[in-house]
Amino acid sequence: MTTTAPRPTHGHGPAGTAADERTTSAGGIDTLVLGRRVRHLRTQRGMTLDDLGRAIGRAPSQVSMLENGHREPKLSLLATVADALGVPLAELLRTDPPSRRASLEVELERAQRGPLFSSLGIPPVKVGKSLPGDALEALVKLQEEVRRLLRENAATPEEARRANAELRARMRAQDNYFPELEQHARELLAAIGHSGGPLSQRATAEIAAHLGFSLHYVTDLPHSTRSVTDLENGRIYLPQGNTGVNDSRSPLLQALASHVLGHTEPTSYGDFLRQRVEANYMAAALMMAEDSAVEFLQAAKADRRISVEDLRDAFAVPYETAAHRFTNLATRHLGIPVHFMKVHEGGTLHKAYENDGVVFPSDPLGAIEGQPVCRQWTARVVFTLPDRFSPYYQYTDTSSGTYWCTSRVQPSSQGAFSVSVGVPFSQVRWFQGRETTERSTSRCPDPSCCRTPPAELAQRWDDHAIPSARPHASLLAALPVGAYPGVDTTEVYRFLDRHAPR
Ligand SMILES: [Zn+2]
Repeated sequence: MTTTAPRPTHGHGPAGTAADERTTSAGGIDTLVLGRRVRHLRTQRGMTLDDLGRAIGRAPSQVSMLENGHREPKLSLLATVADALGVPLAELLRTDPPSRRASLEVELERAQRGPLFSSLGIPPVKVGKSLPGDALEALVKLQEEVRRLLRENAATPEEARRANAELRARMRAQDNYFPELEQHARELLAAIGHSGGPLSQRATAEIAAHLGFSLHYVTDLPHSTRSVTDLENGRIYLPQGNTGVNDSRSPLLQALASHVLGHTEPTSYGDFLRQRVEANYMAAALMMAEDSAVEFLQAAKADRRISVEDLRDAFAVPYETAAHRFTNLATRHLGIPVHFMKVHEGGTLHKAYENDGVVFPSDPLGAIEGQPVCRQWTARVVFTLPDRFSPYYQYTDTSSGTYWCTSRVQPSSQGAFSVSVGVPFSQVRWFQGRETTERSTSRCPDPSCCRTPPAELAQRWDDHAIPSARPHASLLAALPVGAYPGVDTTEVYRFLDRHAPR
């Protein structure tokens, strides 16, 4: 049994990959190791806490604090302790634990004080004489193993952003066209005798049946999933009813695509992303078969009236699906370089693709997700219009040339998004909407373009306002723990148990 089509979740990942809590003081002394050395020398000399306390003029409890590494001692105190124990100060300050046992104790103590341990919610074990050696060994090994597993499963935000940038570069290098995915889609459509045009719900179910799956629409699909596939019983569970904005065929087609492509548990964030993009691509290639979509687009190009709206209507798909599919086919089959953007009404870039030289806002790592888009760009101007739901066309002069873009706004549970498709000025002659007189100039990344507030406003409000920032939903957080990123495995297995045939 396996689950498919995970949603990425945004939020807190495990703290497990963070560095251990430092037990090293500002002076560079590792208080845990120091404490172990003091205790080792004290017991070697047959001294009690009281004895040592008396010798250095401190309460036994303070000696205990020192030995447990809870206190960062002054050097003058350490000199006194060294004296009382009859060793040079350097002996106390050696960085190696005095014994194997002490070394394990230090390691466990350090782990228990770290963020990983506290994120697990397990009460800490008292690390002292009463802890048997084999238990100590086992605990240390276990926490090393937990850390290793987390490192494997979790990606830092930096890794996630880097993986996004790499994926976009690969898509760009292939003009966002993937022949092997097209081939898979073509074979499946041929298998059910689909002859082009929109893919009906019935045809979708036929593809599932062809692959040996029965469909089950349920009301209690686990929240963290879009679909659940039971490989053992050949069943695919889907949510009942259309959730509104999204095409109800998409989750099923994506689940089937994942199955056909042999997707297994992602091994990294990059792998997870790649699988998602492949499943999305193939679902779109099934809904808008390459041959008939290309035929449709070539006819539109010949008439100089290419329109994403028309493509959407011809195949009965959501606008975003049509826009995205257009980018798969435009360069490969029509010789037109393009860009695609999905921008949140808050102004941040959600996802984007280009092979036409348009320069997206990006961070130093080359990641674009969550970056603010120029206010002059079509993708943002469209939000300022009274009519948000008609297609909008605009020419924009940018630092890398003039582009013509078409954009429309679509609602979602996370707010409105604009979906835009654009081409360089030289290609606009093929498109419907080229006659628009809307024009703007973007000087971004020059801050005076749209990042710096107008002087008059700045003068009035500078130092007179404290805005509190809201974290961007599109900011990629570390991957949550679990076999499938973002999926509540327990919930999914309970669900499967509930529904599996007896
Ligand atoms: Zn700007």
